[in-house]
Amino acid sequence: MGKSAFFIRLYGCPVHCPWCDSAGTWHPDHIPDKVEKISPRKLAEMAAERRPRIVVITGGEPAIHDLGELTNCLRERKLKVHLETAGAFPLLGTFDWVTVSPKEWKKPILDCIVRANELKIVVDSLHAIDYWEKEMGHVWCSDSIWLHPEWSKRKDQAILQLINRKVKEGKHPYRAGYQMHKIYGVDEEDAGGERWSNGSGGVMECDLGES
Ligand code: SF4
Repeated sequence: MGKSAFFIRLYGCPVHCPWCDSAGTWHPDHIPDKVEKISPRKLAEMAAERRPRIVVITGGEPAIHDLGELTNCLRERKLKVHLETAGAFPLLGTFDWVTVSPKEWKKPILDCIVRANELKIVVDSLHAIDYWEKEMGHVWCSDSIWLHPEWSKRKDQAILQLINRKVKEGKHPYRAGYQMHKIYGVDEEDAGGERWSNGSGGVMECDLGES
């Protein structure tokens, strides 16, 4: 949190969370008719020019793609490569850091949970933390488990108090999180932002059709 990061948002995600805030990467109403394709080598050159502290490969769901060539190109340029994934697909590529943010609509696989450097639970209800403790609390081994209020619930005092209480209880290495880039308006300054953001940051009605 708070580091300069070059984000690579890949298209496509079969998980379809109802509150997805990057649904422009997969929602048929928002995907541009013509998506410009950029080679892994060119992407790595663009990232290196910006001299970020880290490169974050995200989406959509990036792990539906083979990321081997892209991560090789980035690492050849001495860039630190982070991955943000729902953890439901095998990881293909070489990463310096893996964040797994599990989603109940397509649950994470064991390989991803144990590979995760950190977990990030999106707290979208008062049951969300207990749900994930029951689902995978017996296998998670990360030093950090972030609890982020889902963006439309960011001012919900019951959700915030729940996170506060869970962190203080200390049964798991929980950390209270927040989508800080939204507070800072980072996305609005991103020239490519309109391509993926649906602008809602919360629940989005959708008819998925054949997507
Ligand atoms: S897994 Fe991520 S990109 Fe896919 S629908 Fe859920 S929040 Fe959106």
